[in-house]
Amino acid sequence: MKDSLRTKEMAEKIELYKAEHAGEVSTGCALCTKPALETFTYWKITENKFPYDLIASTHHMIMPLRHATETELTMEEWKEYQEIKHSKLQEYDYIVEGTSKTKSIPAHFHIHLLIGKGPQ
Ligand SMILES: [Zn+2]
Repeated sequence: MKDSLRTKEMAEKIELYKAEHAGEVSTGCALCTKPALETFTYWKITENKFPYDLIASTHHMIMPLRHATETELTMEEWKEYQEIKHSKLQEYDYIVEGTSKTKSIPAHFHIHLLIGKGPQ
């Protein structure tokens, strides 16, 4: 995964986390079990444990409640996403979707929600 939006320290924190959890039997999808900050009919908003700290002061994610890729989403799910995007998501500065180069968990569709941080 590319880490162009994280500080070196945050990228190292991820590597450390991976090393500490290496050898553990995977208990499934990290996004499925992630606690929600807010829940909708088909979607939830969660914290990002490893934020894009180079550019964001707040880094949340929105994802479908069910484990699904982008192409598996139903019209009802997309319709609700559009509603959330034009209401709740307006609280954020940026809505960011990774590409195949940067997506770490492509099996569970998610979009990054960022509040930018000013010059340090
Ligand atoms: Zn999942």
